[in-house]
Amino acid sequence: MLVTRHSSLVTKFTLANKLQTTVTRGSIFVISAPSGAGKSTLIKRLMAATPGLSFSVSYTTRAPRAGEKHGRDYFFVSPRTFEAMVRRDEFVEWADVHGHYYGTAHKQLQAAQDAGKDILLDIDVQGHKQVRQQLPEAVSVFILPPSFQELSRRLRNRRSDSPEDIERRLQTAREEIAHWSEYEYLVVNDHLKDATQALRAIIRAARFRRPSQAGRVEKIIDKFGG
Ligand code: ADP
Ligand code: 5GP
Repeated sequence: MLVTRHSSLVTKFTLANKLQTTVTRGSIFVISAPSGAGKSTLIKRLMAATPGLSFSVSYTTRAPRAGEKHGRDYFFVSPRTFEAMVRRDEFVEWADVHGHYYGTAHKQLQAAQDAGKDILLDIDVQGHKQVRQQLPEAVSVFILPPSFQELSRRLRNRRSDSPEDIERRLQTAREEIAHWSEYEYLVVNDHLKDATQALRAIIRAARFRRPSQAGRVEKIIDKFGG
């Protein structure tokens, strides 16, 4: 009796697993941080050190900064174009951040999924809220500066924003930081090297999650027969 019950349980378990996992999918990583915490710097280092990870290029209505390239850093579009895309439901998520629109297009995620690649989304806390509702399997990381003073120092030293803009970003940072507990992983960017290693460890661990390994493991399991 015990043996019968056990084997029927095993059959059910195996079947459920098979139904859930036959397709190997790339992971979706969401990284958020208050402006100036060092997110772009960290993402650049992470992308350079992580094969198989693609970056989701967002649409934005803000002007390009020096050195930024259309199609690589962002797709820079007019508010009119952005609003038309919203009406056509072309975004997985979008938000007004620091007075400009930012959004992730469905086609960005689709292209990565079709290629079986992992994809990284650099989006704000409002965007993360929307992604979490639609894609609960996404891995989320919140990056914090070591202190408010250091955040302020980094924003001023970056010399890319006006004093008013820096003030606005610091004010927004106070609101954004309150969302830290909505994220799965927290990384304090004190020393760049340590923070980069922490991000690499998170990506590496996610790649061993069942949906990422399913295709490979099922080939092994199939050879076991029975
Ligand atoms: P974000 O993308 O979060 O707005 P950036 O990557 O542009 O932030 O970093 C803001 C500034 O802080 C940049 O000048 C960058 O060189 C600097 N920075 C980033 N990480 C560190 C760190 N760990 N220690 C000191 N300065 C840093
Ligand atoms: P920046 O103007 O400094 O490049 O970015 C400002 C903020 O907008 C950052 O917090 C960044 O993560 C966020 N952001 C960039 N792209 C997107 C996006 O597609 N959607 C959302 N919601 N936020 C984004």
